[in-house]
Amino acid sequence: MVVLQGKSASKGVAIGKLCFYKRGSGEIVRTQVEDTGAEIVRFESARMTAIDQLKGLYEKAVEEVGEEGAMLFEAHQMMLDDLDFVEGITDLISDGLNAEAAVSDVSDQLAEMFASMDDAYMQARSADVKDIAQRVINILSGASGGGMDSDEPVILASDDFSPSETVQLDKSKLLGLLTTGGSDQAHTAILARTMGIPSVCQLGEELSESFDGKDIIINGQTGEVFIAPDEETTERLTAIYKKEQMEKKLLEELRGKPNQTIDGKNVMVYCNIGSPDDVDAVLASDGGGVGLFRSEFLYLAGDDYPTEEEQYQAYKTVAERMGGKRVIIRTLDIGADKQADYFKLDHEENPAMGLRAIRICLTREEVFRTQLRALYRASAHGKIAIMFPMITSVWEVREIKRICESVKAELREEEIPFADTVELGIMVETPAAVMVSDRLAKEVDFFSIGTNDLTQYLLAVDRQGKGLGKFFDAHHPAVLRAIKMAADNAHKAGIWIGICGELGADVELTELFMAIGIDELSVSPASVLPLRSVIRSIDTTKNKEALLSKLMAEDE
Ligand code: PEP
Ligand code: MG
Repeated sequence: MVVLQGKSASKGVAIGKLCFYKRGSGEIVRTQVEDTGAEIVRFESARMTAIDQLKGLYEKAVEEVGEEGAMLFEAHQMMLDDLDFVEGITDLISDGLNAEAAVSDVSDQLAEMFASMDDAYMQARSADVKDIAQRVINILSGASGGGMDSDEPVILASDDFSPSETVQLDKSKLLGLLTTGGSDQAHTAILARTMGIPSVCQLGEELSESFDGKDIIINGQTGEVFIAPDEETTERLTAIYKKEQMEKKLLEELRGKPNQTIDGKNVMVYCNIGSPDDVDAVLASDGGGVGLFRSEFLYLAGDDYPTEEEQYQAYKTVAERMGGKRVIIRTLDIGADKQADYFKLDHEENPAMGLRAIRICLTREEVFRTQLRALYRASAHGKIAIMFPMITSVWEVREIKRICESVKAELREEEIPFADTVELGIMVETPAAVMVSDRLAKEVDFFSIGTNDLTQYLLAVDRQGKGLGKFFDAHHPAVLRAIKMAADNAHKAGIWIGICGELGADVELTELFMAIGIDELSVSPASVLPLRSVIRSIDTTKNKEALLSKLMAEDE
């Protein structure tokens, strides 16, 4: 067995035969042309044919991967219309160079320029330039595109795949994609992810054509590739593969179905996200909304505070793409394990209990106001709710509401539109918030329980701590009773309550959460359908009393 390690480009396990992608010779013929006018006409005609082909590919991609995934073919059409690009080529032809060589020279220069840029995204655009040039050259020289030489489904390998090669591949024969080079930022990787095809890139020259036809297994999650795998590896990876297939089947059967128990109780199943890009996964997994957008990732992504405009664009994108479904955006939860240098926070001995989250917002009001302005502005484009982390006291919530009112008044004065129906909620993730949840519930529209921090603070166990093992017990009755207490107080005050910590996806507890009356569970997109399947198997009239009395029993 040979084991290669690359970089994950698209998750999932694929098992099958390795097949190297076949291309034409790729050699560019270089000649001097006499009739430069006729050569320019030949180039123009090839360019128009390429644009037509790209239109066709765009339509094919829209059907297969949706409009967003297809956009790059529109971008390719635009590149072929780019004046500098076209003039660069026609200038060389006017100097007497044949069209194939002129296209190749100009695109090589452009591709090199992209490749030398610092930004990984721009570097990846180099593949797009090469792709469109190859298309035009193929048309000029009458070459065909090449492809996979197999009747069986295979795991296809190459040095790299251009995006148009990827979209033209026969998906019914494609188990996985491997590249010796490539990038997880390239459109090819983006398309593989959208199509759900496992893929590993940057495997290096060790992935040689001498392995063509061998049995292989790839793990798109870890970036591992096993060539001629041994029995133990085959068994281990086959088990993962089967689990994935079962989950996929679940996904298909449960799509569009309600999160409803046997006795007709509905639960909202939403998703946790960290960036606008994650909305794809939310939509793909049929999430009912966004239950937690960890906005601090916008702050962690750069070297300076994200501007109001940058934040507005991010929140607006999510709100619009969720099409009227509820999007709960949590204000920044910086501090503790999530540090951004430019905040210049003092060193703390115990940062989990230090100046973090809402405490920063209430001591640096300008930072808070910028985020609130962006959030309210974005509320004009969808159903945005705002949630505040690390709350311990009623005075904090009243102070927050005062600042929200002041921000709204400011926007009104500037005649900037915002929704007047934005719900305000708090994370219940400190023991203090649980203990005064009756009072807090009168101040807000909803609660969302952050079980990750709640477990840490209730049990006095560091959530980052190594070696704490069984002491970090999210099933501890203290945690579960705290959830019940917060839920009872929420419902007494007539507000709804959700769970957005990791415990929300723990299917061992779903029945108890239903018995407690939790209204919403916010989980990773991949957990939506498995959770739906469990919810649909529960009859809350059956075990409710037994579960609750066990939770509240004096003896364990
Ligand atoms: C939590 O504490 O449970 C939570 C959802 O927030 P985070 O994990 O971001 O602290
Ligand atoms: Mg938390």
